[in-house]
This record gives sequence, C-alpha cells and structure tokens, in this order.
Amino acid sequence: MTNPPATADALDRYEAVIGIEVHCQLRTASKMFCGCSTAYDGAAPNTHACPVCLGLPGALPVINRRAVELVLATGAAIGARTPDATRWDRKNYFYPDLPKGYQISQYDLPLAAGGSLTIDTSDGPFSIRITRAHLEEDTAKLVHAPGTGGERLSLVDFNRSGVPLMEIVTEPDVRTAEQARRYAEELQLLLRTIGVSDADMERGQLRVEANVSLRPRGTEAFGTRVEVKNMNSFRSVERAITFEIERQAGILEAGGELVQETRGWSDDRGETYRMRVKETSDDYRYFPEPDLPPLRVDPAWLDGIRAALPELPAARRARYREQLGLTPYDAGVLVADADATRLFEATLAAGADGGLDPKTVANWVTGEYLRIRNAAPSSTAPGADPIELAALIRLVVDGAISRANGKEVFEAHLATGERVEAIVGARGLRQISDADALAGIVDAVILANPAAAADVRAGKTQAIGFLVGAVMKQTRGQANAAVVQVALRARLGPGPTAPRAGEDG
Ligand code: ADP
Ligand code: MG
Ligand code: ZN
Repeated sequence: MTNPPATADALDRYEAVIGIEVHCQLRTASKMFCGCSTAYDGAAPNTHACPVCLGLPGALPVINRRAVELVLATGAAIGARTPDATRWDRKNYFYPDLPKGYQISQYDLPLAAGGSLTIDTSDGPFSIRITRAHLEEDTAKLVHAPGTGGERLSLVDFNRSGVPLMEIVTEPDVRTAEQARRYAEELQLLLRTIGVSDADMERGQLRVEANVSLRPRGTEAFGTRVEVKNMNSFRSVERAITFEIERQAGILEAGGELVQETRGWSDDRGETYRMRVKETSDDYRYFPEPDLPPLRVDPAWLDGIRAALPELPAARRARYREQLGLTPYDAGVLVADADATRLFEATLAAGADGGLDPKTVANWVTGEYLRIRNAAPSSTAPGADPIELAALIRLVVDGAISRANGKEVFEAHLATGERVEAIVGARGLRQISDADALAGIVDAVILANPAAAADVRAGKTQAIGFLVGAVMKQTRGQANAAVVQVALRARLGPGPTAPRAGEDG
C-alpha cells in the first residue's frame, strides 16, 4: 500500500495534533520491587535477576521507596498534584519479556497528575500540559540472534526486568514536530537536573513515543491517531513526526481513512511502518494489584522532596536573562548543557571579586569551551578549571593578552590542564599595550612600508590594517592592536594635525 505524497496544499489544510508519551528509567540502586541491582550495564545476561523480577509464582514485590520519591520529585518539578493515596494496578498482556503475564503499573491513580512543561521554540515559549506521571516496572529484553546452525533465535535477558520506569504522558497539546523534539529535549534536561534519570536516549533510558493525528485547520474534533515508536534520538523524533504528518495528510487528501495503529520509525529508510493495529486500554484488563497495599503519600514527605529540588532549568534561564543580562539564546545554550552551566557559574564565582561581566564569561563558555569540548572525542572530553578561566578572562579584559592569544591559551589549558599564567609566560604572549614600548617597532614598520604609509597619508585608511598586521607580525601577536592603530594614526594622519607626518619623505 503506497500513499500519494502530500501536497503543500494538504499540509496547509491540516493541523497536526500530537500527544507524547515518555518512558524513562529511574536512577535507583535497586529494581522496582526487588533488591536486584540496576547496575547491569555490561554485565552478562541474566546475572541481575531473582524470583521477583523473574516473575516466579509466589514471589512477592516490595515497593522501592526511592523510585516513588523520584516520581514525586518529577511531579513537584512540573507542578503536578499528588493524591494522598495512590494504588498499583496490573496491566495484563502476554509477551515473552514479561514472564508474569502482567506489568505492575498505575492506572487511574498516578503519583502525579496535571502538570506542565514550558519549552522555547523558534516561535517563542510554548506550554504543554502533562496529564500524568506514573510508576511502573520495565520488561526484560528480547535479543534476536542467529544460533550456531544459523537458525534464528530469540533470547531473553532478565537484567532489565523490573527496573523502575516512569511514564510521563502529555495532553494532545503539541502541534508541530519541532515542538515535540523541544519537549523531549526539555524533559531530558529537567530529569537530569533533578537527578531522576540519566535519560540517555541511545541507551534506552529515555523512550519517546508520539501519538499523531490530523484535523482540518479550524476544526476541534480529533482525527484518528497513530502511535509512533522506536525513535532513538531527538532528531529522529522530529523526522518521524514530520514523516507521519505528511503520510497522513497524503491519505486524507486522497480521500482515504486512517487506522488507529502503532507504527515503528526506521531511521535508515526515513519512514514509519506498521507494527500492529493498536490495542485499547480495555484489552489490558487493568485491576488493582492484590500483592501490594495502596500507597499513602505523607504530605511532609512530599514537602521535603519539593524543598530539596534544585533550581529548575526554566528558572535558571530566566535568572540568566533577567539578572545577569544574558541573551535568551546564550541562556538557553548554557542551561542546556550541565558542564557549561557548572563552568559558567563557577567562573563567575571565581571572578566575583574582580567583577567579571556575566556576558563576557558566557561568551567564553558557549563560544570557546563548548566548541573545543564538542570537537573532542568523548573519551578525552577536557575539563576547564573555572579559576583559570576567570584569570584568563581577566587578562584579556585588562588588555594584558590579546583575545586571539587568549583563545590559544584556553585551548592549551584544556588540552594540558596547565595554569594560564604558566602558558602565557612560556609562550611569551603577554600583550604589549605600552605605546612607548611599541613606538620603535611602529616607526620601523612605517619606514619599511613607504607605499602603504603614503596611502594612509593620502586618506586611504584601509592601508592602516596592513601596517597594523606588520606590527603584529613583528611582535608575534603581542602588540595591542588598538594601541598600534592609535600610534599609526598619530604618525600618518593626513593634514596639519599629524604630528610626525612626512618623516620618510
Ligand atoms: P494509550 O494508553 O492507549 O497510549 P492514552 O490515553 O494514554 O492512550 O494516550 C496516549 C497519548 O495520546 C496521550 O499523550 C494523548 O494526549 C494522546 N492522544 C490522545 N488522543 C489523541 C489524538 N486524537 N491525536 C493525537 N494524540 C492523541
Ligand atoms: Mg500509550
Ligand atoms: Zn530481582
């Protein structure tokens, strides 16, 4: 079944309605309902399993308090409500990676309900309502591999079985693929900031699913939704949704009908494909989990969790803009990256007595630090010492070294960890800003370049750049270019005010 491609006209006529479901693995030491360690990365298959997470009959679950706390913290961070009492439910379905035949989850009483997350998009800030965040357990992992005789085998690894998983579901508020990507990025940043999850998409710690439907622009009723899974990067979230919107618009434009289904995203082929026709929640036969008591949330416990939250990304961006005077762009770039945030804050603190300008520090961190770090292979990611960066910025601001040399010094510091003073000294980079110290070289350069000097005298001021360059060359970049300019103009400025004009004529 091939679909006609959607015309630009059809894409104009329909509006996308998108709701996002995110599953994230919580950062706990042990699994959701047993004592097995969650540190199974790199471990041999089935070495982190016990009767509980293997789903053996008669084994009883015990609630992981830390996992509950992490969902409560998420709820507090997105402004959600937590009911006094919540409950566990069984979600029944058969799958080889789910040995019990059901998953312990939460159905109508999630730990957090009714929050929101605000994202920045190219069209400005945009708020997405979050329906719920609930706690459940992860499944085991199926591994498909050829056997020794080339036969196809499906193997089960229970190391992941029972790992605490938080599901966060939005209202269908998202309208574009870009908003969906930005939401996923912002949620990852939030979860990492509050220490709830490592949220690495490539490692399956953050799994994003998008429900996508279309409706004619200007109408209210929702169309038939398609759930898209298997997007392994933020970029593929945006690509998959873009593809799905075009696919659906093409079908609708041709007078076709959509089926409610689950589709996978193939990054290689750049398209979604049918996985299964969608089950409804009735199919899961939810019922209260008889092996676990209802969970009562003590208000004092919740208050303590709320009070312990760090500054959240949105508040930090607002503070950077409003109190530190950064541009929205710089605030966004700094806050999106934990290393950059730390370096920025620590450098500002280190330079506090010297009163470093936050904008200057932000430029060094977003421009130089991130550029160099992002170019380095991750295994050798350099660490910058904020005290050294503050000292370096001071030297550049005071004109003791040039900005270009400052960048060189910073690169050397990142590569070797050497102190800024030592690098500046060893490379002889201290800038010469003393006009008297430069006078001899300036005079010599004028003498050696009579044609350029004559051009400047004749009012062709572009030629001054050439002479400045010649002085820089002579001083191996140490001359203060601004001071050299002034000295050259003083000597070559045309007209009677030029003090030393004509000396080579
Ligand atoms: P399920 O459990 O079957 O996935 P949910 O009710 O939890 O269903 O909804 C899943 C997601 O689908 C939510 O994010 C919701 O906002 C979104 N959604 C619901 N209806 C639509 C629709 N018509 N178009 C797009 N998204 C939708
Ligand atoms: Mg769903
Ligand atoms: Zn276990």
